[in-house]
Amino acid sequence: MSTFKAPKGTYDLIPPESADFLAVREALSAPLRRAGYGYTETPGFEQVELFARGVGESTDIVTKEMYTLTTKGGDELALRPEGTASVLRAALEASLHKSGNLPVKLWYSGSYYRYERPQKGRYRHFSQVGAEAIGAEDPALDAELIILAHDAYRSLGLRGFRILLNSLGDKECRPVYRAALQEFLRRLDLDEDTRRRIDINPLRVLDDKRESVQRQLTDAPMMRDHLCEGCKSYHEQVREQLTAADVQYEDDPRLVRGLDYYTRTTFEFVHDGLGSQSAVGGGGRYDGLSEMLGGPPLPSVGWALGVDRTVLALRAEGVELQLPSSTDVFAVPIGEEARRALFRVVTALRREGVAADFAYGGKGMKNAMKSANRSGARYALLAGERDLAESVAQLKDLQSGEQTAVPLDRVVSEVRAKLA
Ligand code: ATP
Ligand code: MG
Repeated sequence: MSTFKAPKGTYDLIPPESADFLAVREALSAPLRRAGYGYTETPGFEQVELFARGVGESTDIVTKEMYTLTTKGGDELALRPEGTASVLRAALEASLHKSGNLPVKLWYSGSYYRYERPQKGRYRHFSQVGAEAIGAEDPALDAELIILAHDAYRSLGLRGFRILLNSLGDKECRPVYRAALQEFLRRLDLDEDTRRRIDINPLRVLDDKRESVQRQLTDAPMMRDHLCEGCKSYHEQVREQLTAADVQYEDDPRLVRGLDYYTRTTFEFVHDGLGSQSAVGGGGRYDGLSEMLGGPPLPSVGWALGVDRTVLALRAEGVELQLPSSTDVFAVPIGEEARRALFRVVTALRREGVAADFAYGGKGMKNAMKSANRSGARYALLAGERDLAESVAQLKDLQSGEQTAVPLDRVVSEVRAKLA
């Protein structure tokens, strides 16, 4: 062991568990790639100001959780805590919205950083797969994103997740509701911090996890009862599309995502096997964000799914992913000449798409067979002097123990036929 450990709140992805992680990333993004979303990658850091505006000055992310740094050149940067602000920034910078082809649909996958109190399912470095549909207001688009996330989780074999759905209104009806909520909250018995939140971001108080606060919120006014006709009908259409797609959801009038420019549709995917870190993903409509970043009005909707928590949810449900084996054939040469011959065969196998590995390091036959078994390979490919004299190798089925001699120049076709 070295003297160094992974920093607090982080963990390393190493085999064999890392294979699950990769498969989850792949599965979460597969439905997006089939729905016209294009892959996007942005830097791991941005100007602090982008997140201050794009996530919101009053959010926990910006006030407590950002990793910020000043460069030698004096720039104020932050490690990205989330993806939406960066992706929208990139789309605006490249003028993707001017292509005349709206919505611009983008997906991304990567590392995010938040200075949080580490717990199971809550890390300081974590991974998300995300999607943004920029520049269109259409209930079918909101429904599309929810359906795609639903289908992604289902394709992994997850069953124990629920979808919570709400509407946060728009710039017409939300301010009226906000004022009503503020008036209600000001009459409650709340601490200093929470009272300040009433002024800055009152919806966020509804999201307070403390029982002492929740107890007082039973009669709080709900956005649901304040939606204008436009928002009501929009939300009804989203719900209809979900039902038509056999996607079940729960109306959760208390679901808020806290940011002032989050509008209309908001949703969260929760999994009941994860304890208090139950959100595996979330998203919503953010019609005002582009303007907050200095862009034109571009009504948009998106989500981000947590890869780490999705892996934990799979474990909680006991789902075993069906992963392709990492090694199909493991070559075990006996003697120098056989090493050269089998190494050539291994290269040929790989070039033909067969996963193959080799007993490196000149270890003896017994150790080499141990490596073959440990690799999980279906077949061992053995050759010694006598085999080479006949230009064959022995293909051994590691499950049945059955062994057959195969001409060296036919190993590739033989193995491919057997694996097919
Ligand atoms: P939470 O309420 O659990 O803090 P959040 O609202 O901050 O979640 P989002 O910003 O919506 O989370 O991010 C989307 C998803 O990313 C979450 O649903 C979760 O699965 C994952 N995620 C967020 N923060 C973390 C973290 N610190 N560690 C691991 N996964 C995270
Ligand atoms: Mg959080």
